[in-house]
Amino acid sequence: MLKTYKIFFLVAVIGFAIFYRTKLENIWAEAYQHYLPCKTPIAYSIGTFDTRFGISKVEFLSALAQAESIWETPINKQLFKYDPNGNLKVNLIYDNRQRATDQLKSMGLVVSDNRASYDELKAKYDSLILEYNQKRATFQADLSNFQLAKTSYEKEVQQINARGGATREEYNRLNTEKNVLNSRVTSLNLEQDQLNQMVDQINTLAKTLNDLASTLNINVQKFNTVGSSLSGEFDEGIYKSSPDGQEIDIYQFENRDKLVRVLAHELGHALGLEHVDDPKAIMYKLNVGENEKLTSADLGELKNLCGIK
Ligand SMILES: [Zn+2]
Repeated sequence: MLKTYKIFFLVAVIGFAIFYRTKLENIWAEAYQHYLPCKTPIAYSIGTFDTRFGISKVEFLSALAQAESIWETPINKQLFKYDPNGNLKVNLIYDNRQRATDQLKSMGLVVSDNRASYDELKAKYDSLILEYNQKRATFQADLSNFQLAKTSYEKEVQQINARGGATREEYNRLNTEKNVLNSRVTSLNLEQDQLNQMVDQINTLAKTLNDLASTLNINVQKFNTVGSSLSGEFDEGIYKSSPDGQEIDIYQFENRDKLVRVLAHELGHALGLEHVDDPKAIMYKLNVGENEKLTSADLGELKNLCGIK
């Protein structure tokens, strides 16, 4: 009798472990990277790949490898690695404007090139940001509560299994707890989906507002997209970090050299670096330099981040 319960339990727990892991591993990967920068190579993969850029995947990967080595060579350390399932998705996205237009339409917003339209979008952007920040804080609190509950549950199951299995009473109680944990995973995933949707909407609105501001010649600060508050001005690409993982979107590049530079810049953000003031630097806010090497400003920030003297 006890044996049966034990077997049951292991199956149930393993099933549960696989379930939550696939859904939430992005968040953990991101947290590790945030708290332990440079410790493990960031695994990247190709996500969306639009062939209308006229570049093959092999060429794109070679540009990525070169961008990678810009960071790695000077400190002789592997910071990135290509992995077909890598958590950091690098996307080549053609015609983002069309996508933005469609998404705004789905939000019930019509964009015209006038000030009223701009003001309407800005109000929507402000309220979304507010809502997003509240929801994200709630999500993070729920997630950490869940992790605590999960840890203590697993510990108890381990202890019970170690002493040969559960009594019927324990089994029933733990089974109920497991169901509660599972339903919390479901609601965490739901929260996560909603956050992702908001991130998408906010990023679209930010891009549209920035485009409109320049069309209408309105002198305002650039609007930030979520997770990339510092990369807004590097317009050819963007690094996004959100609850659904990390992504680099590349929108445009004039030639291979510029592609390598924008990739290196966004990889720098993925490492955790911010902009530097040197116009020649990879981490300068604009892609205006020609060099494909780190400047001393870049290198200083990198060493600082990685704790290298
Ligand atoms: Zn940037």
